Amino acid sequence: MTERKCLECGSPLESVAGCRDYLNEMIKWDFEDFTGVGKVHHLTVLSYNLQHPSLYSPKGLEDAKASLQEFFRHPESFNRHNEWNKKKLASNVRDWKITGTSENHGVYVSVPTWKITASDVVRAGLPHYVENVKAWTDSVLKSLIESGNIDSTS
Ligand SMILES: [Zn+2]
Repeated sequence: MTERKCLECGSPLESVAGCRDYLNEMIKWDFEDFTGVGKVHHLTVLSYNLQHPSLYSPKGLEDAKASLQEFFRHPESFNRHNEWNKKKLASNVRDWKITGTSENHGVYVSVPTWKITASDVVRAGLPHYVENVKAWTDSVLKSLIESGNIDSTS
C-alpha cells in the first residue's frame, strides 16, 4: 500500500481524510484562544494557502506572496492587522475559500520543496503551535525564494 500524501504540499495523510483537516484543527485552536495563540491565525491561513496555491485565483496567489513578503518587511504592521475580533477572524476564514476555481487557480512557475507542512505543525501540538507557525511561515518564504517564485530582491 502506498502512503497517502497531499498532492499539493506533500503532508502525509494517514490519519486524516485530507490536508484541510490539519487546517481545521489549527483554526479550532485559533478560535478557542483567539487573543492568545489565535494571534498567529493570519500566518497559519497564509502559510497553508501558499502551500495549496490552487485555493487561490492567479491574482490571489500574487497578493498572498506580496502579503508574505510584507510580513517579513514590516512584522509590526501585521500585528496591527491582528487586532481583530472573532467576527473578523471568521470572515478571514471565509474569504480565502471563494477565490480559486478548478479552471482558474494559482500555480507556481516551479514547484517549491516544502520543509514544514501543516501536518508537522499539528503533530507537534498546541503547546508549540505559535513558535511552529512562525517557523512554518519562515520556511514557506525560503522555499518560495529558492524555487524562484518570489524574487528575494524585490
Ligand atoms: Zn496539503
